[in-house]
Amino acid sequence: MAQTLVPTVQCQMGILSNSIQSRTSLNNKSWNSLLLNSQRPKAKKYSSSFKVFAVQSENGTVSRLEGLLNLDTKPFTDKIIAEYIWIGGTGIDVRSKSRTISKPVEHPSELPKWNYDGSSTGQAPGEDSEVILYPQAIFKDPFRGGNNILVICDAYTPSGEPIPTNKRHRAAQIFGDQKVIDEVPWFGIEQEYTLLQKDVKWPLGWPVGGYPGPQGPYYCAAGADKSFGRDISDAHYKACLYAGINISGTNGEVMPGQWEYQVGPSVGIDAADHIWCSRYILERITEQAGVVLSLDPKPIEGDWNGAGCHTNYSTKSMREDGGYEVIKKAILNLSLRHKDHISAYGEGNERRLTGKHETASIDSFSWGVANRGCSIRVGRDTEKQGKGYLEDRRPASNMDPYVVTGLLAETTILYEPTLESEALAAKKLQLQGPKSVASLILFINLIMYAVVAAIAAWALNYGIEETPDTVKSLTLPARLFPIYYPIGNLATGFFVMFSLIAGLVGIAASLSGLHNVLEWRASSLLSASASSVIALGLTLLAMGLAWKEITISPRAPSLRAMETLTFILSATQLLCTGAIHAGVTGITTYPSTGRV
Ligand code: ADP
Ligand code: MN
Ligand code: MN
Ligand code: MN
Repeated sequence: MAQTLVPTVQCQMGILSNSIQSRTSLNNKSWNSLLLNSQRPKAKKYSSSFKVFAVQSENGTVSRLEGLLNLDTKPFTDKIIAEYIWIGGTGIDVRSKSRTISKPVEHPSELPKWNYDGSSTGQAPGEDSEVILYPQAIFKDPFRGGNNILVICDAYTPSGEPIPTNKRHRAAQIFGDQKVIDEVPWFGIEQEYTLLQKDVKWPLGWPVGGYPGPQGPYYCAAGADKSFGRDISDAHYKACLYAGINISGTNGEVMPGQWEYQVGPSVGIDAADHIWCSRYILERITEQAGVVLSLDPKPIEGDWNGAGCHTNYSTKSMREDGGYEVIKKAILNLSLRHKDHISAYGEGNERRLTGKHETASIDSFSWGVANRGCSIRVGRDTEKQGKGYLEDRRPASNMDPYVVTGLLAETTILYEPTLESEALAAKKLQLQGPKSVASLILFINLIMYAVVAAIAAWALNYGIEETPDTVKSLTLPARLFPIYYPIGNLATGFFVMFSLIAGLVGIAASLSGLHNVLEWRASSLLSASASSVIALGLTLLAMGLAWKEITISPRAPSLRAMETLTFILSATQLLCTGAIHAGVTGITTYPSTGRV
């Protein structure tokens, strides 16, 4: 039912109309069918070209095989080959096997169930290994052509229970819910992947045992030194279009050897069926090319982009006028279930979601307009038009699209948070303000504290070196530093000492504060808050002494900069303590995750 609303016309099963050829005489046909596809139009003229080609080619066997692989079976039989595809025990490996079906089909319901040996895929115990495949979606087979098909299946026990790795079953329940159907959920999935050299498992185009030049020139690039594996990406693009997959584009990625394609927007469960089929096709093409496909979220450690599977999502009400408010409510729900989503968004995602390389930290939920460092990004257009879609940037390249699309629909359409937790979540999202305020001030304070510490250290050193000469005539205890100080007045010595301490503690507090604030967790914010209060106390002391020094004359002109800085720092440190405190109260009163 939902399928009728798919925005891009999908023609999964345009098999018959597409490929029926005029049925000329069987004689002609049977010869033609022996020829390579590309040679077929010329068949009449060079009816012996198959033979000639095979003999002349460097590898005759391969050419003959190719001829057989391209055999057109249609003139001889109605039978077709169906490639049954399912997801193996790791939850990411695709498996498939073929069977003959008596005639072309247009709908998965026309196909028989089938079984496989689950003990060989890590999905069933050896003594009871039978797992049953239920055909769920069909696509044209770009490898075999003709009326042959790829069949996306999910797996059940013989008694009809979905096996644990069958994530489609739950997704189909969610997308079968009337509330979800009414919202016509669209998904646009950006599948990133990395191509590896087969024997060394090192990215395509990278020197073996070494690294290419740093990232920058590779994204969407052309050229033999910048783009590696384009033929695979392109072959995959066409194969997907042929199969009837709703593929919407491709691009070269930031890390050399890494590519992306987008599928969608597709409605409901279709999105995930299409992604799985496109992954299967990609595995087959890389197999032919002798290249290894990696969906690891962080294939290369260090300063190299990871691979994600951004999931763009909208509901009917998000796409209609006033949709921006619906999007914000959806983001609020998503913030409440951040942990549930993260734990279902792909194995090893913590290596990728570091807060660097256009990702947000895995521990914190954030959203922003046009911000690629957030968990959820809303496009400028969506903000401007007041409707549109959101991009969930958290899913890893190896995520299960059944799980991710199902969760998104569940959290934003079916899940109803209590009013209390909703209010807290709203508050928490507002705390993104204090976070950026706090980190900005911490950074500025760090610099000011460093200047204060440097001047104070100089002044103290100067004081110690000059004092012996100046105080020779005095007797103890008047000679004792810092009651007497060689420059300025009676308050100068105290001012210098406390400024030095405030400066050093301030540097330490700002540094550790920056680290803790960026993590924005209850425990780290508490320690940031404690150290910022200590730094504030010492700064106020230094400021008080500066004031004292100013009111008593004569003043030391060389210390004027330091006097000014202690005044400024008293204000900014107070602000910063306030912003961190806002974060602490916001987070610690938040019940479900304790993290933003
Ligand atoms: P990015 O700028 O993040 O690289 P891409 O252009 O790679 O984005 O992918 C955006 C995806 O979002 C496409 O697959 C597109 O079809 C999809 N999309 C566009 N509009 C919507 C919508 N309203 N709802 C869901 N997905 C959408
Ligand atoms: Mn993209
Ligand atoms: Mn990308
Ligand atoms: Mn994206």
